Amino acid sequence: MSSVLRIPNEFITELLDRIDIVDVIAPRINLKKAGRDYQALCPFHAENTPSFTVSPHKQFFHCFGCGKHGSAIGFLMEYEGLDFLDAVESLAQMAGVEVPRSGSRTSADKHTNLYAITDKARRLFQNNLQNNVQAREYVRRRGLSEKTIETFQIGSAPDAWDYLLRAFSPAEEPLLMSAGLITRNDSGKVYDKFRHRLIFPIHDRRGRVIAFGGRAIGDEHMPKYLNSPETPLFHKGRELYGLHLARKHGNSRAVLVVEGYMDVVALHQHGLPNAVATLGTATTPEQVALLMRYFDTVVFCFDGDKAGRKAAWKAMESALPQYRDDKSLKFVFLPQGEDPDSYVNTHGAEAFQRLVGEAMSLSDWLLQGLKKGLDLASLDDRARLIERARPYVQQLPKGQFRHILTRHLESLVHIPVDWEATATKSFMPPAQKAAENPAMDDWSPIKKAIALVIQHPSVAAQVNWPSGLEACGYKGGHILQQLLEQVAASPQLNTAALLEQWRSRPEYSHLSRLASRDLGLTPEQVLPEMHDLAAYLQQAINRNKIEGLRRKQAQNGLTVEEQQELLQLLASRVQKAQP
Ligand SMILES: [Zn+2]
Repeated sequence: MSSVLRIPNEFITELLDRIDIVDVIAPRINLKKAGRDYQALCPFHAENTPSFTVSPHKQFFHCFGCGKHGSAIGFLMEYEGLDFLDAVESLAQMAGVEVPRSGSRTSADKHTNLYAITDKARRLFQNNLQNNVQAREYVRRRGLSEKTIETFQIGSAPDAWDYLLRAFSPAEEPLLMSAGLITRNDSGKVYDKFRHRLIFPIHDRRGRVIAFGGRAIGDEHMPKYLNSPETPLFHKGRELYGLHLARKHGNSRAVLVVEGYMDVVALHQHGLPNAVATLGTATTPEQVALLMRYFDTVVFCFDGDKAGRKAAWKAMESALPQYRDDKSLKFVFLPQGEDPDSYVNTHGAEAFQRLVGEAMSLSDWLLQGLKKGLDLASLDDRARLIERARPYVQQLPKGQFRHILTRHLESLVHIPVDWEATATKSFMPPAQKAAENPAMDDWSPIKKAIALVIQHPSVAAQVNWPSGLEACGYKGGHILQQLLEQVAASPQLNTAALLEQWRSRPEYSHLSRLASRDLGLTPEQVLPEMHDLAAYLQQAINRNKIEGLRRKQAQNGLTVEEQQELLQLLASRVQKAQP
């Protein structure tokens, strides 16, 4: 994330000082005041009791359930799916300030350049479709209307190796390459990746083109479907084809999850705009979480064949940990050999909706799979059912649905079931364990000091810390030293702003975790605790220095200055010893 380095730290600090993280989060999720902090149901994992907390004091959020945490910038990145610069940009807008831009090769600028490349490619593909006879014939055969083609910005790539290459300047080749639009063969020759295909631009949820899918026009071209590779703009497990249109044209009640872009396009054309497609992969937990953020009901649509059922089981597995009682998940299976595209074209939208209306509930689908091959008249098989069910039920957040499912299983096996009996402990998230044991007793003094400085930077600025902490003999002395220098440079820093200065450093996640820990101190205890630690660390540094000087004294003798230093150190030790 080199963009972090390109926005001046002072600007980030000032920005996080101007805005209040509560103002950023409150409009997006339902915050309730709880003591000095705010609480809410976590937007990043499924839960029924709130473990998401926002600290106005630290300007920091933290979830004790899933461990997610961060500043207002981090929240926007996570919640809105923004990259760092977009999040900063959006906060700056809120605060009414302008983001200073320096240099030209920041990663954010590179992103901007890539969007320009993908958008230009999108236009070129659309132009091509105007006079590509074979592509037009193909589109006509598939029954796509001009309006649909326009809405989805469908285009085509001609049967050529250099359609895009010729349209871009040689200087733009590296960008074409990182956008995944050209590739290089073993002998170093560069050529267009998409050739002789109908092209479906893939948009992010804000409607920007980030990648392409290509359907072969002639069936002799393999593979039939080709997607852009992973690029800086495109991570396919996190994107859904058609999401921006489903949000724009559909309602937020239900969304259909289908497999291919042609399915989405066909459903849309038949007046069912609430469809999105996974991009040729199994449904990921990220995709399920994304859908549940925008829609109340998620209906997974699969082929009725064996592969389709396997994919549906996988989707269910991705969905279980994300399950929320206020959302509903359903499964539809199409008749063998049909996909949504063919089905809606042959039978029409009403028939398709009827099918969706008969969708199987998550619990029915799960139970059907679990019961498969078991004879519930046999005691052994009843025990087997419970063992099969256990790992699935345990992934479900505690709540209404888990309760009902358990009652249902009990009615099948005729015995009470206790899921907690064996595995409660291992399922408790680590962050929650930590909260139960807030004491810093077994922490090194450096770790304690770092946690205190991060959580109370402005208090730390009032303390007379020793210098030369690198030499204190404990791990992490150099980190504390740097933190203290940052605090000294801008004593008004809050936790979030201080952490933002570490975002691109390897220590960032460790420091963020320390920022969220409950240190078990009242506000009045913080300053005295810091004084004690500062004195203790000073002694540790002195002790190390004394040892070093004594060793040198024994080996090579000391210079006059060194003798004086040793004397002073010894004297200060004596003074400290007399209270
Ligand atoms: Zn969470």
